[in-house]
Amino acid sequence: MPPVTEQLPTGTNLDPWFDHYAERAAGLRASEVRALFAVASRPEVVSLAGGMPFVSALPEDLVQGSIDEVMRTEGPVALQYGSGQGFPRLREQILDVMALEGIRANADDIVVTTGSQHALELVSKLFLDPGDVVLAEGPSYVTAMVIFRSYQADVDHVPMDEHGLIPEALREHIAALRSQGRTIKLLYTIPSFHNPAGVTLSWERRLEILQIARENDILVLEDNPYGLLYFDRPAPDALRSVEEEGVIYLGTFSKTLAPGFRVGWALAPHAIREKLVLANEAAILCPSSFSQLVISKYLETADWKGQINTFRGVYHERKNAMISALEEHLPEFSWTNPHGGFYVWVTMPEPLDSKAMLPRAVKELVAFTPGTAFYGDGGGRQNLRLSFCYPTSDQIRLGVRRLANVVRGELDL
Ligand code: PMP
Repeated sequence: MPPVTEQLPTGTNLDPWFDHYAERAAGLRASEVRALFAVASRPEVVSLAGGMPFVSALPEDLVQGSIDEVMRTEGPVALQYGSGQGFPRLREQILDVMALEGIRANADDIVVTTGSQHALELVSKLFLDPGDVVLAEGPSYVTAMVIFRSYQADVDHVPMDEHGLIPEALREHIAALRSQGRTIKLLYTIPSFHNPAGVTLSWERRLEILQIARENDILVLEDNPYGLLYFDRPAPDALRSVEEEGVIYLGTFSKTLAPGFRVGWALAPHAIREKLVLANEAAILCPSSFSQLVISKYLETADWKGQINTFRGVYHERKNAMISALEEHLPEFSWTNPHGGFYVWVTMPEPLDSKAMLPRAVKELVAFTPGTAFYGDGGGRQNLRLSFCYPTSDQIRLGVRRLANVVRGELDL
């Protein structure tokens, strides 16, 4: 493969291998806003765009201690291949993490993956054929949709409100798709502190949505990276705490510890779990032994729940800074006020267009993610996702002030 392909826009005939790609690669296009984000990573730009956890809130010696201890006591195991399912000890500890959201399970039904992103890939590989439909909230997590599309499935967005996915709308979408003869394979949902919408599915709706999925024989894919990062009150228990057979649950250490380890997991009904292990082995042989052992040691020796509390405190303060800056500078906008997680979803009045506004914003040294990124169907023009996870409260206030200037400029045009 010629190295130049990396620098060329894919999907254009500037790429000498253009007509060689598999059909499924067609969905792997660099987004139009990607180049702008490269500019936005300059230090003078306040980026409210990315979703990077604030790992500086993690005391270095806490992690270093676990690394040292692993290398001293189990170095050869840490540096060796391991089981395709993940180390049993870590899988047992993952049960303690999930118990915090009401899940009772067997460690044998957990498959450790390279981040939950990789679990999304494996589940898609197992279930999606070209032309299948994945139901997902509208808006939904961009990079999950990229995977679904790379398996040539279509994403059908079901609307949500401040209490999350709307059950009645879900029923209607299922009926409409079935009447068109479509095959619905998965209901992909982020029930707690949604990315990007910032909302949380109520307990009543959790039960109703599980009931709808059961009645319609649709497998639920519950993606829960943010559930433990609540501010004032915990999210309702996970969907998987109610329903075992019809739910694949995805968890990760990326937000409660650090994404650099690339350790996540899937908890699946027993039969699916077997296939997931085989798919995991086929893709990567085994998840990183080193990362798994370090996390296992960390969970064994450090105050990991205290650390999650520290993260909650940091993100809560930053969320408050963002909401009060929005109230002060952009009162004509509306937004979600999340009780956890990383994101505020903003709705702008007409005629503002978030995608058109982004280049101007980057020029004014503030970046956000346009709402269109979170829909596969052109929706989201009047929305932006603002992240409060990484910038400090002062930077957030500055960023929102700059954003307000951009908006004034747009409206004067
Ligand atoms: N799902 C959602 C909703 C996310 O926001 C993310 C990370 N941004 C992931 C999955 C992937 O996380 P990781 O692979 O780091 O576990």
